[in-house]
Amino acid sequence: MTEAVALEVKDLHKSFGQNEVLKGISLTAHCGDVISIIGSSGSGKSTFLRCINLLETPTQGEIWVNGELIKMKNNRRGEFLPVDDRQVQRIRSRLAMVFQGFNLWSHMTVLGNVIEAPVHVLGVPKAEAIEKAEALLKKVGLYERRHYYPGHLSGGQQQRAAIARALAVDPEVMLFDEPTSALDPELVGEVLGVMQDLAQEGRTMLVVTHEMAFARDVSNQVMFLHQGLVEEQGHPEKLFQNPDSERLKQFISSIY
Ligand code: ADP
Ligand code: MG
Repeated sequence: MTEAVALEVKDLHKSFGQNEVLKGISLTAHCGDVISIIGSSGSGKSTFLRCINLLETPTQGEIWVNGELIKMKNNRRGEFLPVDDRQVQRIRSRLAMVFQGFNLWSHMTVLGNVIEAPVHVLGVPKAEAIEKAEALLKKVGLYERRHYYPGHLSGGQQQRAAIARALAVDPEVMLFDEPTSALDPELVGEVLGVMQDLAQEGRTMLVVTHEMAFARDVSNQVMFLHQGLVEEQGHPEKLFQNPDSERLKQFISSIY
């Protein structure tokens, strides 16, 4: 039996002014897929993730989340915009994003950060949100530090807190944008370890990463972007051991 489709992106384009940064990208993520997105700096990886959860508005294309099309249409000025704010808010809350820079609220404790969206966006009763947050913080190894403020945590701990916060909304798909790039090398492993656990639990994940070992060993699909297009895509073993694209060969040798 094939798994249900969690996320489908069809022919996504994005321009900033005259600069077309995404030139037609399609992707299908079945439930439980872990898709690594790799490519040089400037190839459009972040823009792609940001378009998927509508932090940026695409200029063309379709985004389907769990079988539901995000409704967008051209307005009178020719801009392509979502038309249903409530749908956008609902869908965005189902697509949790973890950023390179952690992006925790510095004036809230770890626990405060994790319960914020469930309580204030999803309307979960506070006691229930706290119970769930504590379980998530145990899972990422931060329960003991739940009352700390982000400024008193290491980068690796902050990123694990950000992952717990993302999990708190029960996301359909988790989007990671270079979650370990800002970390000191000795802290990368603890974050990748948590992500690997999520993958093993069957979470659907899109991961922009420069960690080739993660892309190779944890993901079941790899997408290599070059200048806003999918240059090569497929099973990690094939891509890393026997890439078709010369550009991908160069990219891989430049990383290792
Ligand atoms: P990557 O994440 O692969 O490094 P990005 O998606 O960040 O690439 O950027 C792709 C291109 O889009 C770059 O040329 C970048 O300058 C441009 N870009 C990204 N965000 C904006 C923006 N908000 N305004 C204008 N140009 C942008
Ligand atoms: Mg980026």
